[in-house]
Amino acid sequence: MSHPHHHTDSECQELLRQLNAYVDGELAGELCRELQQHMDDCPDCEVVFETLTRTVALYRNLDEEPAELPADVEARLFQRLSLSPCSGLPAEG
Ligand SMILES: [Zn+2]
Repeated sequence: MSHPHHHTDSECQELLRQLNAYVDGELAGELCRELQQHMDDCPDCEVVFETLTRTVALYRNLDEEPAELPADVEARLFQRLSLSPCSGLPAEG
């Protein structure tokens, strides 16, 4: 009943680039659905999205101005994704 959906690293990274705009509410509805579908099928991206959402919420609580993600937070998110499941690195947590 479901379409086969392949996730590649580049696909995930592209999604992550859009996540910033997504949590900022800048994406069109269609694109939001695409992202959510991807995350539905991709736990890695889901984790990143949750982290990102929390971070943004934190920043919005500190200042009511729209804040951009600090580069260092973004870098950590990407770093997390670039961990390959085949690399044998111990998973955190
Ligand atoms: Zn993904």
